[in-house]
Amino acid sequence: MGELTHLTGLTREELGRYVEGLGEPAYRGRQVFAALHRRRLRSFEEMTDLPKSFRARLAESATASTLKVESRYVASDGTRRYLMKTSDGLPVETVFIPEERRDTICFSSQSGCPLQCDFCLTAKLGLLRTLAAGEMVEQIIVALNDAYGVGAKTPRGTNLVAMGAGEPFLAFEPLMKALRVMADPDGLFIVPNRVTVSTAGVVPKIRELARVPDRPHLAISLAAPTDELRDRLMPINKRWPLEELLAACKEFEQSLRPGERFTFEYVMLDGVNDSDAHARQLANLLNRHQLRAKVNLIPHNPAEGLPYRPSPEERVQVFKAILESKGVRAFVRRPRGRDIYAACGQLAARTSVPAAADRPVQIQT
Ligand code: SF4
Repeated sequence: MGELTHLTGLTREELGRYVEGLGEPAYRGRQVFAALHRRRLRSFEEMTDLPKSFRARLAESATASTLKVESRYVASDGTRRYLMKTSDGLPVETVFIPEERRDTICFSSQSGCPLQCDFCLTAKLGLLRTLAAGEMVEQIIVALNDAYGVGAKTPRGTNLVAMGAGEPFLAFEPLMKALRVMADPDGLFIVPNRVTVSTAGVVPKIRELARVPDRPHLAISLAAPTDELRDRLMPINKRWPLEELLAACKEFEQSLRPGERFTFEYVMLDGVNDSDAHARQLANLLNRHQLRAKVNLIPHNPAEGLPYRPSPEERVQVFKAILESKGVRAFVRRPRGRDIYAACGQLAARTSVPAAADRPVQIQT
């Protein structure tokens, strides 16, 4: 398997050149691209419109899929979590969140994560490996096929969020490549405007994204309004402290074009970062940097092994009111899929879920 080229990670042009290298005309590349991304087929055998001999030759040097779905969990709110394995046996998790107007797929950029955010279960895995572009694209294909059937048209639009396991900006190159592949109108046709990438604060990449023409929306996970607290909750802060991070955020905000979204995320931890004083410090910090971006308040998703509880609803509301009284736009985000460990910060390749959740189901994708 290691020697095989994963075709799902190639752009249409690259795939054209690849099949030409096998002595085939370029249109065969376009056919394979459509089979992989528009028809969402995950094996050459299913591409029955291609000559058998060509499929056999492809199979000698390439593969259409590398991820193996180990299990699927369905939450009481309809959220689905997929636990998959890479060809080298590492866990990859993806979450499908059905919503009224459009579905959201939360995908992983790394297996595990090297950052040690103290409130996140994924951090416990450490970094296992950064995923390749094809492994990111394939997660979307698996989730769409499971939700709607192989290759079936999706009834609603699809939003993507790179908020699963991993720090997306430590997977910058493969991530941007995956976004290019998925934006192709002859394939999945999910354009960057439908994608949000969340970073813990990798400052050089925020600056780099500010110069990218076709780019996803950006979210910055803050979690604390002071360096002292943020050093503890998100140790990446020791490398890029708040002043430096927010200066880069300002630069990014100034580069925004109409229709682009830029937000801050603030996980609410009971008794840790949710006091009135924290709210005032946060508002002052954003105002001092003249940042207009809105703040999403996210009640923490508890999990065994994490020493935090979510802030009570009324605390969240008071915190929100203080931010708003100081001119900061704030919203509360509803947690999804908590009962199957599919919510933010809960992805840690768990194979057991509380009894109340549905049993894992084996699926065909
Ligand atoms: S919150 Fe995100 S960046 Fe932080 S450890 Fe978890 S997966 Fe990594």
